Amino acid sequence: MTDMIHRLVYYSRNHVEGDPASMMLEVEAILQKSRTNNNRDGITGALMFNAGCFAQVLEGPLEKIEATFERIQQDVRHGEVSLLAVEPIAQRSFPNWAMGFVGASRDDATRFAGVAVQTGFDPARMSGDELHAILKELTLEEEALGA
Ligand code: FAD
Repeated sequence: MTDMIHRLVYYSRNHVEGDPASMMLEVEAILQKSRTNNNRDGITGALMFNAGCFAQVLEGPLEKIEATFERIQQDVRHGEVSLLAVEPIAQRSFPNWAMGFVGASRDDATRFAGVAVQTGFDPARMSGDELHAILKELTLEEEALGA
């Protein structure tokens, strides 16, 4: 069972403060560290960020995503971490992304507009499946654009 690939989905409230530029620097640091660790651990996934919240999908060996999620929950750069789903999956949704990211570019902002209309841009109102679907859609669009 633990050999199977699993998916974990959560959202949290951003505790990173400052102007948009310094917030993005902090998010870049999180991404850089995530990509290094996730490459090592066989984890792929995507992270979504706006000024108010993070949402993330992690996929990989169960014990690795659980250990990573333990570290993530301790991180003071966010809080109110809410686990939405942990489940076995047949295949990865983000095979090419040690940690894909959506949220920074103007294109993302435009595409987010549709999500915002549907959800108020509040991950607390989404299920794990819905968040996963949104992140997959946005990350695959990013991939198609050659990001
Ligand atoms: P080190 O980098 O050596 O850090 C040691 C300690 O310092 C850790 O407790 C770390 O939390 C803390 N720390 C480091 N830099 C800062 C800082 N600038 N501000 C506050 N505390 C800091 N990690 C992953 O491995 N994979 C992920 O996918 C992932 N996603 C994340 C998503 C979000 C929204 C956030 C907020 C963090 C994420 N992290 C992720 C980072 C994770 O929380 C840990 O910081 C990281 O995994 C620790 O890596 P390390 O064990 O190599 O410790």
